[in-house]
Amino acid sequence: MPATARKTQPVRAEREKTVDEIYERIYAAILEHRLHPGTKLGEEKMADIFGVSRARIREVLARLAHEQIVELFPQRGAYVAKPTTEQARDVFEARRLIEPAVLRRLVDTLTTEKIQRLRQHIELEADARRRGDKRAVIRLSGEFHTLLAELAGNSALARSMRELCMLTCLTIFLYDAPTAQSCRDDEHQMIIDAVAKKDRGRAEKIMLEHLDHIEGSLQLDESNGEADLEAIFRG
Ligand SMILES: [Zn+2]
Repeated sequence: MPATARKTQPVRAEREKTVDEIYERIYAAILEHRLHPGTKLGEEKMADIFGVSRARIREVLARLAHEQIVELFPQRGAYVAKPTTEQARDVFEARRLIEPAVLRRLVDTLTTEKIQRLRQHIELEADARRRGDKRAVIRLSGEFHTLLAELAGNSALARSMRELCMLTCLTIFLYDAPTAQSCRDDEHQMIIDAVAKKDRGRAEKIMLEHLDHIEGSLQLDESNGEADLEAIFRG
């Protein structure tokens, strides 16, 4: 933008974007599958796009790297992470441990407002599905799990879930079978129904099945470089 045009902008538009804002923009782009694993995040280009200093971009990238969402390579720069199949399995193992705990805590601290928040979120998901907005569906599916952790009221759990959801999203991107979905649409509803009834056992069971379904839809089988040609051509 030319300097003259910039001067006529209201003061609000002149305000520099904060680390949080840039972080959120990148986070959303990855969640919506607009930013692919392995994409280079050039400091200079990003500084230009967001109209901030390279130092600020470095700060954002360091934070994303700390959360394993971005990988930093000396001399080469920052790239959106590309989780390996082993890392992907680790993510699901961690989620199987954390998410039942999240649900237990949520049931123990449940209020009508929390259930309302969750139902509103489900509505947004359903709406995105009706509109056929695949990007929104992917983002909202991930955010559902983060919301559960936030409403459970443990900030450390919520932070971990946010990170794990992001890594799941990158994994789905990399290893998704062409027809698979990130989260089955009816299962979030079933989880909320069980939580609303304070049925911890059922909520946990559906959650674990839900995670099985997501992991099962990914092609995480170790490939030794030899494709199963029989299956490919005779299936
Ligand atoms: Zn889900």
